[in-house]
Amino acid sequence: MNLVGNALKFTDQGSVRVECRFLRDNGRERLRIDVIDTGVGIAADRLESVFEPFVQADNTITRRFGGTGLGLSISRNIAEALGGSLRVASEVGKGTVFTLEIAADPLSNVTPISAPLQLTRANANASSAPAAVSGVPAKLTASATLSGKILVVEDGPINQKLMKVLLERAGAEVTLAENGQVGVDAAMQQSFDLILMDMQMPVMDGCTATRRLRELGFEIPIYAVTANSMPSDVEECLAAGCTGHMAKPIVHELLLKVVAEALSESKVSQAKAASTARDAAPECVGAV
Ligand code: MN
Repeated sequence: MNLVGNALKFTDQGSVRVECRFLRDNGRERLRIDVIDTGVGIAADRLESVFEPFVQADNTITRRFGGTGLGLSISRNIAEALGGSLRVASEVGKGTVFTLEIAADPLSNVTPISAPLQLTRANANASSAPAAVSGVPAKLTASATLSGKILVVEDGPINQKLMKVLLERAGAEVTLAENGQVGVDAAMQQSFDLILMDMQMPVMDGCTATRRLRELGFEIPIYAVTANSMPSDVEECLAAGCTGHMAKPIVHELLLKVVAEALSESKVSQAKAASTARDAAPECVGAV
C-alpha cells in the first residue's frame, strides 16, 4: 500500500501499474508484487538510501510532496520479516519499479476469493477493525444519489481526479483545493455542505486546516480522508475537529455512502440552525 501510495505521489504523468504473480523456483514459493510507475525516478547513487529511515530521494522532495521518509524503511523491514525482500530499480525522469517479494505457502489448498467487494464491505462494517470509517452514523443510506456542494482538500492529483469523478458522477458539486491553506481560503469564499480533508499535504496539513476552520466557526461536517489510519491518527483527526475518518485507499461505494449520509446530516443541522435562528430572531429571517 505504501509502495502504491508513493508511486501515485511521485507520478505526475503516465501510469502506475501493479503486477502480482506467484513464483515457484527451487521449490520455494514466493509472492512477487511489482509497482511500476512512470514518475520522477530516483538517481542511481540515491537508490539504496531511500530505504534508510528519514531519507527521501532529495531534500526538495519533502517540500514538494510531504512525508517523513519512514515508509520505505518500514516496508523493507516488514518484507524481510516475512521472509522476503524489497528492491528498487529506477531511472530519473522515466520511472521506478519497486519489487516486493514475500515467502508464501503453497497455493494448493487455498480457495481464491471470488467476491473481493464483499470482503471490503465486511471489513468496513466490522466494529473491531481499526475502522475504515469511524464517526459515521451506523445507518448508511443505500442510495448514492448526492446533491450538495463538496470541498475536496487533497494534494494528490490521482486522488483529486478519482474523488471528483466519483462524486460528480453521483450528482454532487465538487471544488478541489490542493492543500489546507487553499482549502481554508475556499471555505471562506463560498459555502459548502461537506469537506473531505486529506491529512498529509504540503503548505498546510489537514489537521491544522480543520482546526483553523473550526476556530473560524465552521460547523459543517469535515471528514478526514487519509492513509494515516492508525487509531492514534484517527484520534488526532477527531481532536482537530473532524466529524469522522475514512481510510485510504478510497473505496468507491463506501465514499459515496459516507458522503450521502454526511450531506443529509449537514442539511438537517443547517435547517435546524436556520429554524432556531428564525425562532430566536424572527425579524432576521431575511438575513439567515
Ligand atoms: Mn496527501
